[in-house]
Amino acid sequence: MTLLVLLGAPGAGKGTQAAVLRDRLGIPHIATGDLFRAAIREATPVGLEARTYMDAGQLVPDGVTIRMLEERLARPDAANGAILDGFPRTAVQAAALDSFLAGRGSQVDAALLIDVPPDALIERLSGRWICQSAGHPYHVSMKLPAVPGICDLDGSPLVQRADDQPQTIRARLVSQLDDLNAVVEHYRATGALRTVDGLRPIDAVSAGLLDVLEAGTAGAA
Ligand code: AMP
Repeated sequence: MTLLVLLGAPGAGKGTQAAVLRDRLGIPHIATGDLFRAAIREATPVGLEARTYMDAGQLVPDGVTIRMLEERLARPDAANGAILDGFPRTAVQAAALDSFLAGRGSQVDAALLIDVPPDALIERLSGRWICQSAGHPYHVSMKLPAVPGICDLDGSPLVQRADDQPQTIRARLVSQLDDLNAVVEHYRATGALRTVDGLRPIDAVSAGLLDVLEAGTAGAA
């Protein structure tokens, strides 16, 4: 079982890199943001609860988030591991994940931090668009689709997320950077933290992540 945690602020490129790692490692990419957006589309109780927090650029409470993630990890396709993207976002979630995995004789193998300074994050987030049907990511300056406004992969229209509007971006960053730091410190303490420079082009960041994984879990972050 290979359990990886991808860490980074909103806009650091976690979703893009998770897709690369998923294809290389053959384990599912589990993004709690995607799980919440699916729950909202399906109008489930979790979706109804999550919606108000998400639209306000705040974290959804730990209890509901942890339950949702544990249910997802218990599904058969995650038996050999998973790449977690957007979870854990708080120290409480990190501790809950450790206990859940310990109960299954497992652990977080590596917590991969994609490091991008705040100024660069604001520029990236305000240009981000995703496709309506599956959330495939695009960007006005970094990753354009072949046909304007249309997803290359499934042909659905590209939309801007409600929480990627400029007024919401700063609120998301301020409230989430503190939480991210707490999670980074959690994995520094367990020895699982590995840091990769996220300011480089997408391919170079992917290569850096794969290098770090090949080097194994021994050594310093
Ligand atoms: P993301 O797609 O990862 O940027 O997440 C979008 C939104 O979903 C966040 O701004 C939060 O409101 C919510 N969310 C996603 N993951 C978590 C989490 N692990 N804990 C709390 N809220 C989350």
